[in-house]
Amino acid sequence: MSAAAHVNSWYAASAPQIEDFPRLEGEIEADVCIIGGGFTGLSSAIHLRDKGYSVVLLEAERVAWGASGRNGGHCSTGQRADQETLEERVGREQARRLWDLGLEAVSTVVGLVERFNIDCELKSGDLHVASKRSHADELKAYAEKLARDYDYTDARYIEREELEQMTSSRRFHAGMFDTRARHLHPLKYALGLARAAHDLGARFYEDSRVTSYSEGDRVTVKTAHGSVRARFMILACNGYLDHLSRPLAGKIMPINNFVLATEPLGEDKARSLIRDDCSMSDSLFVINYWKLSQDWRLLFGGGESYTRRFPSDIEGLVRKCMLGVYPELKDVKVDYAWGGTLAITMSRMPHFGRLSGNVFYAHGYSGHGITIASLAGKLLAEAISGTAERFDVMASVPTPTFPGGTLLRWPGLVLAMGWHAMLDRIGS
Ligand SMILES: Cc1cc2nc3c(=O)[nH]c(=O)nc-3n(C[C@H](O)[C@H](O)[C@H](O)COP(=O)(O)OP(=O)(O)OC[C@H]3O[C@@H](n4cnc5c(N)ncnc54)[C@H](O)[C@@H]3O)c2cc1C
Repeated sequence: MSAAAHVNSWYAASAPQIEDFPRLEGEIEADVCIIGGGFTGLSSAIHLRDKGYSVVLLEAERVAWGASGRNGGHCSTGQRADQETLEERVGREQARRLWDLGLEAVSTVVGLVERFNIDCELKSGDLHVASKRSHADELKAYAEKLARDYDYTDARYIEREELEQMTSSRRFHAGMFDTRARHLHPLKYALGLARAAHDLGARFYEDSRVTSYSEGDRVTVKTAHGSVRARFMILACNGYLDHLSRPLAGKIMPINNFVLATEPLGEDKARSLIRDDCSMSDSLFVINYWKLSQDWRLLFGGGESYTRRFPSDIEGLVRKCMLGVYPELKDVKVDYAWGGTLAITMSRMPHFGRLSGNVFYAHGYSGHGITIASLAGKLLAEAISGTAERFDVMASVPTPTFPGGTLLRWPGLVLAMGWHAMLDRIGS
């Protein structure tokens, strides 16, 4: 039996496939067993092999089958929570460390792409736009704060007049253009990481869902057909963790998000939407985000759902969001529309930590996972090899449990999200 196919997306249609990996059969041993083959697991595998650990990676479906192979491709700078919020929560000194790690996360992605020569359409620039007048003032103040308090001058406030030359959309009041941010083809990046980790000697098993594990001096990790005995284990399952770890389940919440790819628009039309071929996102709570593909399609992400099943008309859901930004695309055909599941936290900061001395986890990137999950692999490898200071900076951010715990968090989340979505629709 072979692993599940990638979701039917423009990414899967345009990425070169790599070989299938076998299913785990029988009992094997490793220094580290990683559960989950997305950015967290793949980056961990590379950085652990760099340090000489023997690594087994178990993936329930197929490498990059989860959010890592389906996302918007935006590699934003900093953390998901803004610096003001972080200063309030953890103090200025720790907020500064988190900011620096957020910048290192972008350079980690760039470094991995360059080191392994991964052809993943890596490009520069992100334009974040204000959907409401009040958001424009906030963006201006934030760009000034980053320059003043963090010596960060790569993010520039963009007035409305200049913005109108950068995009045909007239919906936005101002913007912030960050030249250090990147964007890429996420599935090509993930498969490039997998190939690199495999070439470095990591052992990969697909179609190998972990059903349980037992802790101890050595961890025993079980699948339906085999088991791994390891000195260390990493949980890298993010939005697909389910009940594999009860203590962690109430800290993160799986939600679904959706993307469409239009038919190719041609360079002129595509550049009228996004002149500089950067990534773009708006300032609504249920965020819209978009970029161009190498073959000049618009890749537009938006809409959320909170149940295990995806809506039946994903195209219709995201098309509505896209036409709100670019009404001129009303006659454009949509070639692909797909969804993925990611994990969010109450604080919108990722949840890093240890369940015991030798069981580690990193997840809950809250939509900011390309960079931070890539960094997580580096920090997890550091922590396992005994240098945990930087891992602990991330782990020190408090992650409240969702009200209602594992059973009742869903209705609470749906109510809260519905409330914020309503606020998105009102006011100017
Ligand atoms: C539609 C969408 C758009 C997004 N856009 C962006 C964006 O533009 N920028 C950004 O930074 N982030 C974005 N994200 C978030 C980002 O994709 C994630 O944060 C990131 O991919 C998380 O990587 P991961 O490795 O932790 O998880 P995943 O990539 O989800 O990988 C987890 C893996 O664990 C496997 N697994 C789960 N349980 C088991 C088990 N029991 N045994 C074995 N394997 C198991 C799953 O099959 C899965 O492959 C988006 C997410 C979605 C869904």
